[in-house]
Amino acid sequence: MQPTGTGALHIGNLEGALRNWVRLQYDYEMFCCVVDWHALTTMFDRTEEIGPAARQTAADYIAGGLDPQRCAIFLQSHVPQHAELHLLLSMVTPVGWLERVPTYKEKRESLKLNDEQVSYGLLGYPVLQTADILLYRAHAVPVGKDQAAHLEISREIARRFNRLYGEVFPEPAAVIDAATAVIPGLDGRKMSKSYDNAIFLSDSADVVAAKVNSAFTTETKLRKTDPGIPETCVVCQLRKVYDPEGYQTSWEEDRRGERGCMQSKRELTEILNEALEPIRRRRTELLADPAQLEAILKLGAQKASDAASETMKAVRTAMKMY
Ligand code: AMP
Repeated sequence: MQPTGTGALHIGNLEGALRNWVRLQYDYEMFCCVVDWHALTTMFDRTEEIGPAARQTAADYIAGGLDPQRCAIFLQSHVPQHAELHLLLSMVTPVGWLERVPTYKEKRESLKLNDEQVSYGLLGYPVLQTADILLYRAHAVPVGKDQAAHLEISREIARRFNRLYGEVFPEPAAVIDAATAVIPGLDGRKMSKSYDNAIFLSDSADVVAAKVNSAFTTETKLRKTDPGIPETCVVCQLRKVYDPEGYQTSWEEDRRGERGCMQSKRELTEILNEALEPIRRRRTELLADPAQLEAILKLGAQKASDAASETMKAVRTAMKMY
């Protein structure tokens, strides 16, 4: 994940990605990278914020349940082989492929960037992302439903490299956990750092309460007795995720106009805070002990670098670049 903003993850990242990683760590060798170089695409003029943000993201990985003894937790910039492989892959990646990537087009349009403002790095983002994956000769990449398409270009680059120089890389497959939902933000759009609609793991219990209070419910439900539509109500949707056993009763009451939105919000706040409290406590402990966190990141970078060195040997041999 990219450490943009403060680096704290939100509950969309937690439920849409991290929970799945935590399950996978027991069955797979995993490399969990905080991609601080990728953050440069938008934070190149605020680089001093990236280091602290990367630590917040790493702390959230661990607070969310990743075990640094089981998987490698590290920063991309601590493993310089990411840059070397990126350079080599960039030589076999047609610019046309990159210009057609939907997220690149969306980013250009949403940020209204002209040719002079689009950096070489922003266009090349998928090549660096491909290097992040292929460096570990990964067979599988756990991604959210919203990101499955991103992996297609990585597969194409791997195929092209293998065709030119011989089989070095497995084609990475997207692993999408059917159980994970796209988490809505407070305004009903997808929860995202960039929409100002997120509940962060760094938010205190009071901030969570205030944010839930401001969440969109059913537009036409003005009084307690008006019927709600749980399928499009943010509060009901979050309740379904965090109260999978008990949400139906509250949904039926909402539908029949037997409960008000205030009650739903109060209950959701309680449920959310109960679920987030242990994560909040753990992230606070980790960030209060920078030496321990640096030691974890150093261990992760060492594990990653060992695997990366092996891959780079195979790459240089295949390319006859000795
Ligand atoms: P991003 O912060 O958009 O780069 O996403 C990091 C990871 O979190 C990706 O695997 C996304 O699929 C996942 N993710 C981000 N936002 C959401 C959301 N609202 N619901 C579910 N998953 C999400």
